[in-house]
Amino acid sequence: MDLLQTTLNIADRPCVVVGDTAQALLLANWLIQHQAIVTVFGNAPSSQAPHARLSFTSKPVSDADIDQCWLVVAASNDKAVNSKISAMCYARKCFCYTVDDPQLSSWQINHQQPSHGRVALVGAGPGDPELLTLRALRLIRQADVIVYDRLVSEAIMSCCNPAAELIYAGKAKSDHALPQESINQLLVRLAQRPANVVRLKGGDPFIFGRGGEEIETLAENQVPFEVVPGITAGSGCAAFAGIPLTHRDYAQACVFVTGHLRDGEINLEWEHLATPYQTVVVYMSLTGLDKICAALIRHGRAPDTPAALVQQGTHPEQKVYTGTIADLPALIAKSEVSAPTLLIIGEVVQLRDKLNWFTSEASTSS
Ligand code: SAH
Repeated sequence: MDLLQTTLNIADRPCVVVGDTAQALLLANWLIQHQAIVTVFGNAPSSQAPHARLSFTSKPVSDADIDQCWLVVAASNDKAVNSKISAMCYARKCFCYTVDDPQLSSWQINHQQPSHGRVALVGAGPGDPELLTLRALRLIRQADVIVYDRLVSEAIMSCCNPAAELIYAGKAKSDHALPQESINQLLVRLAQRPANVVRLKGGDPFIFGRGGEEIETLAENQVPFEVVPGITAGSGCAAFAGIPLTHRDYAQACVFVTGHLRDGEINLEWEHLATPYQTVVVYMSLTGLDKICAALIRHGRAPDTPAALVQQGTHPEQKVYTGTIADLPALIAKSEVSAPTLLIIGEVVQLRDKLNWFTSEASTSS
């Protein structure tokens, strides 16, 4: 098809997005960024920030709705609905982008596809989009397909190419959306198309991110890939909580460990971690918090060693709970704490009293 390349002024013009898939919402947000007035025919997700130009309706789309708008995006997850919307638009001479069928689209978003598939394993950082690297931002803006995790924040997802196909591979502790092996294979399959595939992971992909396993499968299948580091939760949470991970007076070493329980146990080198004047940063530590603190005390770390639990670090909702390894578990037990949280243990935590700079409305300290 010979397409006319052009630019559109959609400022203050009504546009319609049909569907409430992640891609539909991304496109709706992209249209409002270009000053359109957008009605989404679908449910508003709780994560969607209210916007004067954006409204949601659960009504079905009528001919009158099409007559009143300039551009339509058919992005429902039902192919039949999309093709019906496309036919309605054709009949009423309204331009329609049908996300799952270029043949049914009378407009589309411009992007250049590479001649061969390639995968970028990209670290999205701990949540604040301004903590993305420039390279990560460029790659998510250019991506054709983005396979993303639960830990990647909404704010970061809204920076992605609105035309990209979004595939959720997220993991909650007990509900694995996709098993790791399927993710590894999925990336290989996606890269068989001539597409820029981004595997977007929270924090740094090589720090408790299983990024190594994913690119091992790519390497075995001769798929070209690159790795983009991200700010890991340990570093992001520490900075936003005002806790330097090392300090000439308080910590000459810093270790990152996982508190993930295997068969109810955490297997770590406790004698080593109990040594004073080192900072211990524990990922995936909420469930095992009591066990971690108790084991450190049992192996000789002073019970009054300061500790902080950072919840949703770097997000506007960040909360920091502080105490000692002796009393933090009880404080957390009586507070409403939700994942993700990061535990920082060590003498450096006391510096927060002086160095805490990031205040959010949710911020509490005790
Ligand atoms: N690759 C990631 C870590 C993945 S493991 C990284 O480099 O950051 C998931 C764990 O990371 C969570 O259980 C939590 O301990 C930590 N985490 C990730 N983002 C976080 C955030 N914004 N605030 C607090 N902890 C976070």
